[in-house]
Amino acid sequence: MLSCKQYVARASDQLDGQLSVRERLQARHHLMFCPNCRRFIKQMRLMGATLKALPVPLPSDLEATVARMMSEHSRQR
Ligand SMILES: [Zn+2]
Repeated sequence: MLSCKQYVARASDQLDGQLSVRERLQARHHLMFCPNCRRFIKQMRLMGATLKALPVPLPSDLEATVARMMSEHSRQR
């Protein structure tokens, strides 16, 4: 099973539909057992929808933003 860190590293690719079938299954499997990441991906989706609604390209520091969100997210436990 993926760790939360591995899952989060793939989360943005998952939202972009860029994972292979195998990676997608692993991601779904992780979400089934991990409420924290379910909440995280929900926030990511909301954020993605918001970003897509804006007429600007994605920030190049998106990965840093995700890493920051994840560390905040794990502190909330
Ligand atoms: Zn997780």
